[in-house]
Amino acid sequence: MFARPGLPRFDYVQASTADEAVTLLQDYGPDARLLMGGTDLFPGLREGRFGARVLIDVKQLPGMRQLDHDDETGLTIGAAVTMNELARHPVVQARYPVLAQAAGTVASYQIRNRATIGGNLCNASPCADTAPATLVLEAEFLLYGLQGERAVTAGEFFRGPGQTALRPAEMMVGIRIPASPSRAAARYLKLGRCRSGDLSLVGVAVCGFGNGDGRHAFRIALGSVAPTPVRASEAEAHLASQPAGEAAFAGAAEKAMAASSPISDVRGTAEYQRAMVRTLTLRALRDVWAQLLA
Ligand SMILES: Cc1cc2nc3c(=O)[nH]c(=O)nc-3n(C[C@H](O)[C@H](O)[C@H](O)COP(=O)(O)OP(=O)(O)OC[C@H]3O[C@@H](n4cnc5c(N)ncnc54)[C@H](O)[C@@H]3O)c2cc1C
Repeated sequence: MFARPGLPRFDYVQASTADEAVTLLQDYGPDARLLMGGTDLFPGLREGRFGARVLIDVKQLPGMRQLDHDDETGLTIGAAVTMNELARHPVVQARYPVLAQAAGTVASYQIRNRATIGGNLCNASPCADTAPATLVLEAEFLLYGLQGERAVTAGEFFRGPGQTALRPAEMMVGIRIPASPSRAAARYLKLGRCRSGDLSLVGVAVCGFGNGDGRHAFRIALGSVAPTPVRASEAEAHLASQPAGEAAFAGAAEKAMAASSPISDVRGTAEYQRAMVRTLTLRALRDVWAQLLA
């Protein structure tokens, strides 16, 4: 689709409560869209991918910019926390490094100052960088609607490109991540066409946990290589079935590649993306393992 010369006309409303926002969504139906950083929404409006007469700004709602951590209950992130806030937050860096790393790879510094985690997840692009991190961290997304709040797991949320478990007149208000075990390590590796500022061709998130009895568990999620971000469950099961080490990692990388189903497009062929899933999974597993042994 060709870019249009400018944005279409729209009304702007800054909601002052979550109830007001969801009531406006209900009243305007498909004519309304929620606005946070606007880094996906405005390009989409300009290119005619979204049609909206009313933009409802929800990033200033109470709690939306908040980040709370508790050793027992974990991390709760307001949906409007920005990528730079996540990437630089000391608790996120120390306890949830896969999320800090993923947020730090999004676009450029300037865009990361606007782009929010909630916008990234709700836009539901298969290449959303924070999505694989939420899968390996087994996050829950807090969704608010006219009936109140409900929680949906990251695994249930993504339904297809641009498709989520959000119901009509519902909005994301936060992301809840369980407490991270003390012996944990993680790595997010992203391949784009250039070193920085590009959407990913392949994104691989790996978390590893020491169980205290000498055994380890790994979680792996992939971005950009299927209609939704996906967990590589067979690769995880392969790792669980044998001692950690080079042979196990090579087998898991093969299984991660088998879990991907990329399509060829102008940015790369499916064969290349599949091969890069194997390569990046192997590298991320080696890196996480080295951190766990250190
Ligand atoms: C040049 C450029 C480079 C980019 N590079 C990357 C990249 O490397 N990696 C990457 O992952 N992304 C990238 N993006 C995409 C974008 O920056 C991210 O997806 C961003 O995190 C979206 O957040 P936002 O706050 O700007 O969302 P918005 O644009 O405000 O909203 C995004 C979508 O979510 C909906 N929405 C907003 N708030 C809510 C809510 N509370 N509840 C439910 N739905 C809501 C909106 O209606 C809209 O459909 C790039 C974008 C640009 C323009």
